[in-house]
Amino acid sequence: MKNLMQNLIKLQEYDNRLQELSLQRGELPTIIESLTEEIKEKTERLNEITESISKMQSDRRMFEKEVEASKIQLKKYEDQLYQVQNNREYDAISSEIDTKKAEIENLENKIIQTLEDEETLKQELSEGEEEVKKLEKQLSEHQKELEEIDQLTREEKTRLMAEREEIAKTIDDRFLRQYERIRKAKGGLAVAQIVRGSCGGCFSAIPPQRIVEVRKGDRLFSCEYCGRILVWID
Ligand SMILES: [Zn+2]
Repeated sequence: MKNLMQNLIKLQEYDNRLQELSLQRGELPTIIESLTEEIKEKTERLNEITESISKMQSDRRMFEKEVEASKIQLKKYEDQLYQVQNNREYDAISSEIDTKKAEIENLENKIIQTLEDEETLKQELSEGEEEVKKLEKQLSEHQKELEEIDQLTREEKTRLMAEREEIAKTIDDRFLRQYERIRKAKGGLAVAQIVRGSCGGCFSAIPPQRIVEVRKGDRLFSCEYCGRILVWID
């Protein structure tokens, strides 16, 4: 049991150091994650815009073809107008001509509209691309920064993790699970040293009888207030 306590203390020391190393990364992982997400969303929007632009261009080509065909048709009617035999025929062809002219005007308006819309989208596209470039630059700077920090701590981290693994192996699964559970719930500290009669985790006073029991080390005791494993270090 004394060994168990010693090993839990050691385990906690290793985890503290590992946590310190991971804290050196600061806000960088969060910043990198949110930048990556933002770039992804913006890029998706830019892809949509590109698609809309190409749809508008193909619509416009279609309208232009229709205008061409209508103009040929109009020319035919206009030629026919010179060869009419009576008023009735004249009126009929005149009416066709008016319809064609209206049709052409309508198509030409549509063409102008697609040109204007395309211009707006192209503007949005180029601004968006500029923005994505900026974000990508920020992302790569932060990634580089994080990589430099990791570079410095990598060796120590690898060594600590290997040593921690060795200690963890010697601890019964049941206690190891308990340790991990408390560590997760209590912000990293699962093993609390009794300091001046109080729990080193939550600073609540421990009854003297309990302190004696913890010092004896015959079994594990948890702090009644925070649940951390209590240990005594001479
Ligand atoms: Zn406590």
